[in-house]
Amino acid sequence: MTTLDEPFIGIVDLYTELDGKTTIIDFKTASDGYEDHEVTLSDQLTAYFLGEPGAEQVAYCVLVKTKEPRIEWRLSQRNSAHLAKFLDKVRIVAADIKAGRFYKRPGKHCAWCDFLPACLGDEKKARESW
Ligand code: SF4
Repeated sequence: MTTLDEPFIGIVDLYTELDGKTTIIDFKTASDGYEDHEVTLSDQLTAYFLGEPGAEQVAYCVLVKTKEPRIEWRLSQRNSAHLAKFLDKVRIVAADIKAGRFYKRPGKHCAWCDFLPACLGDEKKARESW
């Protein structure tokens, strides 16, 4: 439940007990490990915490696809202060979307974004992909 004007919908990969603590877990696959700050600053995990505010911790469980594949755990915490800041950001972004204002927000997710050719300035490829 939020004070947002629009519905806010997401699906958590797993909510369970990990080492005796209720934990929101998001599974990742990566060619490289994640840094601690990526988990600490993850909006995705904060968004999930909105749905499970009683969780004692949040985590990325990362399958790192190197020559010797490994599982990496990155743990972090969320609290009501994180939620308040996150909701402020969501309100700003929602207002921008409503007003038709979009801006580039580069990151790993660009690799699977349909707008990548447009963001790279490749008009021919961009036109082909639409
Ligand atoms: S490629 Fe997609 S995700 Fe990346 S900055 Fe452009 S629009 Fe945003």
